[in-house]
Amino acid sequence: MTKMRPNARVFVGCRILLVKACIIGLIMQVSGKENILTNRHQSTDELLFIPVIIHVVYHENAEDLSIEQINSQISVLNKDFRANNVDLINLEELFEGFEADVNLEFFLADTLLNTGYYGIHKISTEQSVSTPDNLFSSDSGGADPIDPDKFLNIWVANLSEGLLGFNGVEGIAVDYTHFGTMGTVSDPYDLGRTLTHELGHYFSLDHLWGTGGCESDDGIEDTPNQASSVNSCDQEIISCGSTDMVQNFMNLSTDECLLFFTEGQKSKMRKYLYEQKPN
Ligand SMILES: [Zn+2]
Repeated sequence: MTKMRPNARVFVGCRILLVKACIIGLIMQVSGKENILTNRHQSTDELLFIPVIIHVVYHENAEDLSIEQINSQISVLNKDFRANNVDLINLEELFEGFEADVNLEFFLADTLLNTGYYGIHKISTEQSVSTPDNLFSSDSGGADPIDPDKFLNIWVANLSEGLLGFNGVEGIAVDYTHFGTMGTVSDPYDLGRTLTHELGHYFSLDHLWGTGGCESDDGIEDTPNQASSVNSCDQEIISCGSTDMVQNFMNLSTDECLLFFTEGQKSKMRKYLYEQKPN
């Protein structure tokens, strides 16, 4: 099981993401508007607020989450996406100054749901829900997304064994043992970084190694080319002629090793949000 975990983060989300990123890239090439959009967005760096809806889909009572645990995850996002996480003091010297304040803040949407709490929706399900097909649909035992053009929808459930999280067009799913920093979380994915990583994908980022090997890249200038995922905290690993950026959120280390996004990643995520999620 533990061997599965490092790869599990990739399992569904990245495949879906690559298709999505590819389609967006093609549209931009055809339209010839990429430079115009890039220039406009580079000059726009205001703080963006993102309303979130959390769907807790539980089969066993032990898979239900407390409000405090949900808030602990929102708190992690608001540190990681503002370069305000206290563990940034552990940033490797080689990459000091690469960390970016993405200038995004997340909050529970002001929509009162069945829990009596704003932005928190809970469903007790009789079925196993662990794929985008069933988790993202009430017809198959999951929960339907709520106004996905307006809200960031996040599902928390007991996913397939070893799967940390995935994303689809509807939103993002995270296993209930890797959501937030308390309650049901389990070491070493117990600091809320699964959602930070999956949000990077959802906002258009690839892994640092692209599809793998030194011929493939994430398309971002300030992340060194990296041959494959590094699942340890080893900061001395060299591949493709440079030191791997092991502590980047788009690597696949355990939670305590992941610390930052770069300016290039920030730029790509914000560009995606302005173009694809204008509301
Ligand atoms: Zn990933």
